[in-house]
Amino acid sequence: MQTVRHFFPKLNEWLDRLPDSRDPDAIEYSRRFLGWWAMALYLLQLGSRRQLDYELRDGGRAVLDKFNRLAETEQKSLPVHDTLDYFVGHVPLTGWEQLRTQIVQRLLRMKVLDPARLLGNPVLLIDGTGLLCFPKRHCPHCLVQRHGQRTYYLHNVLEAKLLGPAGVVISLDTEFIENADAADSPGRSAEQIKQDCELKALQRMAPRIKQNYPQLRFVLAVDSLYGCGPLFALAQELNWSYVVTFKEGRTPALWKEYQALLRQCPDNVLRRDWKDKVQEFRWLKQLDYQDTEGRDWKVNALECTETSTAKGSKQYFAWLTPLPVSPKTVAEIAQKGGRDRWKVENEGFNRQKNSGLNLRHVYSIDPEKWKAYYLLLQIAFVITQLVERGSLLRRLAAELGRPFWKLFGSLKNVARRLLESLRFAVWQDDWFDPTEARKIRIGFDTS
Ligand SMILES: [Zn+2]
Repeated sequence: MQTVRHFFPKLNEWLDRLPDSRDPDAIEYSRRFLGWWAMALYLLQLGSRRQLDYELRDGGRAVLDKFNRLAETEQKSLPVHDTLDYFVGHVPLTGWEQLRTQIVQRLLRMKVLDPARLLGNPVLLIDGTGLLCFPKRHCPHCLVQRHGQRTYYLHNVLEAKLLGPAGVVISLDTEFIENADAADSPGRSAEQIKQDCELKALQRMAPRIKQNYPQLRFVLAVDSLYGCGPLFALAQELNWSYVVTFKEGRTPALWKEYQALLRQCPDNVLRRDWKDKVQEFRWLKQLDYQDTEGRDWKVNALECTETSTAKGSKQYFAWLTPLPVSPKTVAEIAQKGGRDRWKVENEGFNRQKNSGLNLRHVYSIDPEKWKAYYLLLQIAFVITQLVERGSLLRRLAAELGRPFWKLFGSLKNVARRLLESLRFAVWQDDWFDPTEARKIRIGFDTS
């Protein structure tokens, strides 16, 4: 955990600056101490708040000393069960959002994510997922879905995750999808409602991202439901670009035109061997597309057919993009803008749901607090990935003369080792030496 302080030397200052509406006279625990306590819930993958009590409180003095060391505080005792929840309830969501932005901006300045850029631009993977599902209404903002006789009350979220090297995906922004945008739409399918919500949520989220990162020209990597006028307009307005999955069903006229023109341009082709496959790329520039509001757009299209050399089986993918398509660019666009999009699902949502991070756990029944816990999870998961995939652990393994995978057995053991370290290890002073820390160069394993 001390490596976190190496990555983010100002983390304690940032925690101090969280807006905090607790009664100043009644504050026993500082923001930075509780900030670390909150992150521990996810860094240690404890799965529920109660586990903080079981796993950490009974560690007594040894655990208290470690947290005091991390937070640079002199708290006299460990917090009780509700202290954290009370604190989380008194920091507005914008405080946690701001903390995440400071962390992401620091990573951008360190340039550790740069190897994953697409034609020089950072890639944002945009995707939504279901988080909570209740059989009874839980708050006024629940999305409502009917399946046969049953009604479900849901909370969904739209994530913008920054693509990094080595399978890293960094949560850059979050928009909660709530009943205000689903509207009451009887007779509409779940898929239609999902589309409404994700597209509208992106419209709310994008200007905030532009404000926080005005200098960056993001490439949005999105699935076919975004392939329509509003996305093209949004990208144009914010000076961003996109790579969107191209599907016949979403834009039938454009698909038809593409297929017809492709036959007339047989020279726009690139073939290459890639891993155990042969890839064939084809592309067309400047297709005309008129959206449902009558606006005219020019978009480039590219496709990739992959043939497995061993089995002969084929896979086909196609995308639309305003990025320049040529023999020099198509493979990179297809990989980073297209194929890597699955990482938001695998490395992002699935891992957060199917691990001790317990993404779908109701960390608080209060909807506002629950959102704060969601953001805390995202912040902690950024840190978890830096520890797991960063060069520090690999260097440690090399120093000990053991292969990385033997050091911890598996990545899920990293959290358990962190917990053991907090409870039992003796932490050396030089681990916290800022001069030593400055010498460390951190990168991701991109082999
Ligand atoms: Zn609700």
